This record gives sequence, C-alpha cells and structure tokens, in this order.
Amino acid sequence: MRLLMKFGGTSVGDQDSIGRVVEILKHYHTTGNELCVVVSAMSGVTDELHAIAAEVEGDRDEPPIDTFIVSMQTRHGKVLQAVAPNEYDTVMQAINERLEKLRNILTAVDNLRELTPRSRDYIISFGERLSALIVSAALREAGIPSRTLNGCEAGIRTNDHHGCAEVLAESSTLIQSRVVSLLRDSVPVIMGYMGCTADGIVTTLGRSGSDYTAGIVGAAIDADEIWIWTDVDGVMTADPRIIKDARVLPEVSYSEAMELSFFGAKVLHPRSIEPAMKKGILVRVKNTRNPDSPGSCVVDKATPNHRVVKAITYIDKVSLINITGAQMIGRPGVARAIFSALGEYEVNIMMISQGSSEANISLIVGDEQLFTALAALNEVLEKGYIQDVSHDRDVVAVAVVGVGMAGSPGIAGLLFTALGREGINLVMISQGSSEVNISFVVKQDDGQRAVRVLHKEFGLGEEI
Ligand code: ADP
Ligand code: ASP
Ligand code: MG
Repeated sequence: MRLLMKFGGTSVGDQDSIGRVVEILKHYHTTGNELCVVVSAMSGVTDELHAIAAEVEGDRDEPPIDTFIVSMQTRHGKVLQAVAPNEYDTVMQAINERLEKLRNILTAVDNLRELTPRSRDYIISFGERLSALIVSAALREAGIPSRTLNGCEAGIRTNDHHGCAEVLAESSTLIQSRVVSLLRDSVPVIMGYMGCTADGIVTTLGRSGSDYTAGIVGAAIDADEIWIWTDVDGVMTADPRIIKDARVLPEVSYSEAMELSFFGAKVLHPRSIEPAMKKGILVRVKNTRNPDSPGSCVVDKATPNHRVVKAITYIDKVSLINITGAQMIGRPGVARAIFSALGEYEVNIMMISQGSSEANISLIVGDEQLFTALAALNEVLEKGYIQDVSHDRDVVAVAVVGVGMAGSPGIAGLLFTALGREGINLVMISQGSSEVNISFVVKQDDGQRAVRVLHKEFGLGEEI
C-alpha cells in the first residue's frame, strides 16, 4: 500500500515520541508499504514562534532574540543527539543554519518594528523546518533512507492569504512530480503547515495546518490511505479534555468529520478531509502512544447504527453579531448588501440565522475577524440598508453532529428540552439543510456544561 502518514506536534515533541514514530514507520516500511511522511513542529514550538514574533514587533528595547534562539537550539539539539547520534554533527549544522535565518528575520522585525503577514508566516514556518530535519535523521539512523522537503519543494502552491493560505489546484501535479519518485526507495519527510506562492513567498495554512498538508499530499500522490497520528485514540464523541467518558468513534463519514473539525474538534483541520473525500481516500486517525488500537476511519459512508447523534463539539473563540433594522422587512437586496460587504472584506461566516420577522439577522464569526466584519457592516449601515449592529464576544458555538439526524424527527426537541432543563439559555440556533449538524450559541460560561449535558442526553458515553 501507499500510505501518507502525518505526525502531529505531540507525536514529535520529544525523543521518546520520535522514537515511537520511527518504530511505527519502520514497521510499515519493512512490511512492504510505500510511505510518505508529513510532520508538524515539535509541540509548543509554533506557539513560541508566534509569541516571539509579537514580542519583537512590540515596543521593547531589547527583545530576547538570543535567548529564544538558544532555547530552540537546546531543545532541538538534545532530541537530535538522542535519536540520531551518528548524524548529529551534520544535522545540527543544518539546524544552526536555519536558526541563523530565524535570528536574522527576528532582528529585521525588531529594527523595523513592523511584523507583516508575510514575515510572520516565514517566522512561524520554522517549527516544521526544524522538526522535519530531526525525524528524517532519526529514520536514516534506523537504516531507512530519507530526505526532507519543505512545503514549497514538495509542491504545495498556495494563494497569498498569509496565515491561512489556500492550496491551489496546480499543486497536485507539482506534488506528484516531486514526491512520487522518492517513494520507491526512501521515506520522504515533508514539512507540514507551510507552502509558497508562485513567486516562492512562504505561506502558512492556518493553525493545525499540517493536517491540511497531509490531505493535499495524500490525494496528490494517490495514497491508498491517509493516516493522521495524534495523541488520542481517534475521533471521539467529544473533546476528551472536557468530557471524561468521551468514546472513540470507529467510523465517521467525511461530512461528519468536516462538520466536527469546522466546529472546533481540534483533532483534524477543517480543510484536511476535502482532498481525501474528492478521491475517496480513507483517512485513519490513530494514536502514536497506542498504535495497535484501530483508531477511527473517516469514510464516504459510515456503517449506520442506532445513534443519530455521533458527537458534540464546541468552539469558543467566536463572536456574535446582531444586525437589526425595520428597513429589512420585506426589502429585497438587504441580505445581498450585508453578505457582499462581508465577502469583500473576506470575512468567513460560521453561522447565520434570520428571524421570521426579517428585522434581525445574526451571524457568528471567529473572534479574529470581528473587527473586520464590523468595518464591513459599517459600510452597509451608512448606505441605510440596516439600522443597528451590535456584537457579543462572550459566547461559544456548540454543534451536535451526525448524518443520521437527517430525516430523524425529534432530535432538536430532545436537545433543546435537555438544555432548558439545565437552565442553559440559547442565544442563537442554526441548522443547515444537510441536517448533518444542529449548531447553537450560548454564553461562554454555559459552553462546556452544554456539551456535558448533551453528551449525556444522547448517551454518547455508553457503549454502542
Ligand atoms: P496534533 O498535535 O497531533 O495535531 P492536536 O492537539 O491538534 O494534535 O489534536 C488532538 C487533540 O484534539 C486531542 O488531544 C483532543 O484533546 C482534541 N480534540 C478535540 N475534540 C476532539 C474530538 N472530538 N475527538 C478527538 N480529539 C479531540
Ligand atoms: N505547527 C502548526 C500549529 O501548531 C501546524 C500543525 O501543528 O498542524 O498550528
Ligand atoms: Mg493538530
């Protein structure tokens, strides 16, 4: 089989974890599979890169650039020494060369006191640039020929939406021509999360973007399966950090996985599934700490069971926008004006609901886009289409997901009765016509409780 295997930050976070990754890859390599690997940065490194970039841009006399570089050097060097002692000198030299480039760009940002989206992307791509060198060296140390490719070298061609770039269709042939020939006699390690524009400018694919790299590369090389290795046993009925009795879902459909990730199930990036879905490639989610466990399969049609609700998820960094105005009643073109303006400002709308009186439209957007959305709506306000725009940041969006909900009466009734019984007030409700999810908004303080109540109500902690 040809397998694309992606390892997340916790799976490459220290020497023991990388040791486990090598064992896994060795096993599947020696049993005759062709393997292509995508790696994330070591856990926490991307957060640290974001933090140092912001700190350096800030108005501070001596930002701790040297201390930062030394700490990166120490952490990566220690792990390299443990997993690839024979390659230490050459690979450490490559790591140091990269860290010098990082130091230079941080110094430039400090001097200019300006952090552009372009330079931020370059800075935050360094986590993957370093981790891939170590994983690849560890493979060679274990006798498996391997080389690294950065996102650009691998053929990940994107648009220039820095921070959450989209991969362009032409990447598929580029990846094919650059990666497939390597699979015959080696295990290439591709740096996830990053790509580049046609001009070679580095871009990143949004947080957790290595999953997106995995989906794109897996589809381009016609992998038989895409395996996402992480720190939990699979896609679960809820985030196990919130729900102690959350269970692994042996199978979920592509549409369920997309809804779950879109509404905050961090285990997969929202865009990671689509490339696999287009080619009908099975995606497995597995635990590096428990590789014998079967994990979850993401497939076209999951085997039906009596459960209509499969999982519950929530996303907390969202804002509610309320748009009101009596002028909206019966007046064509108001919705167009609102959504065109938001579209022009590139605001991604996560949920929409309109009251039947038509005097109110509510939207949910990510916190980071709130002010852009308000600026767009201000234009609509000035044109007289609407009367008032208010917002609330103190909210979370919860989604109840399951393809079985389509055509199953009574689910919404159960859901809202359970929340009412617990005194949880609903701020907004929305259900797509696909009926794969019902999503609603509650105050921040009620978010986790709402997930707990519904997880219990739908019996998701019980064995199927
Ligand atoms: P990685 O570093 O491997 O990419 P992430 O931290 O991005 O891992 O994603 C795995 C985490 O996603 C898990 O540790 C878990 O806490 C969280 N998570 C949230 N919702 C779910 C869910 N429904 N199923 C499984 N994990 C979930
Ligand atoms: N390292 C990146 C992040 O932390 C990408 C990833 O891990 O998938 O968001
Ligand atoms: Mg992830």
